Amino acid sequence: MSRDSTVAGIAAMPYQLPFPEDALKEIVVANAIPDDDRLWVPQSENVWFRPLCLNRSQGYWMNLLKVRKSGVLSRHRHPAAVHGFVLKGRWKYLEHDWEATAGSYVFEPPGETHTLVVPDDVEEMITFFQVNGVMIHVDPWGEATAYEDVFTKIDMCKKHFEAAGLGADFVEQFIR
Ligand code: FE
Repeated sequence: MSRDSTVAGIAAMPYQLPFPEDALKEIVVANAIPDDDRLWVPQSENVWFRPLCLNRSQGYWMNLLKVRKSGVLSRHRHPAAVHGFVLKGRWKYLEHDWEATAGSYVFEPPGETHTLVVPDDVEEMITFFQVNGVMIHVDPWGEATAYEDVFTKIDMCKKHFEAAGLGADFVEQFIR
């Protein structure tokens, strides 16, 4: 076997060893903002999420949130950090005076409780969120009314994909 041992040859060489045998498979989602509406999982009226990585081994999920209505959407507490990147439209929280606009990155620190609002003039909002652990839906005084975690997300996906004719197993490609 001949080997190009020049500096340029080595620089262009792929890694030569196998990956750890216990490593998980990578995920590559083409058209992450999908053309096929069946890939959007209904969350509530005029609110959908598009799963990208449902990480049950570390308890987080990566998804696109799409909203096509204005007004107050949800009030919730985050015990763990959230990262968001706004792809389309704008939104704000009642608890903060900043607005997240297309192109904005947002870090939501643990301990945040906030109320998501989409302004009246926004036709469609899409934001990429990484949510860690759990979202606890609360009333204005912090009393829990519901929760979401990676497992409730997986369940919602299974039910929706089954009903949409893709099969409940369709969600498996997003689970790690
Ligand atoms: Fe939040």
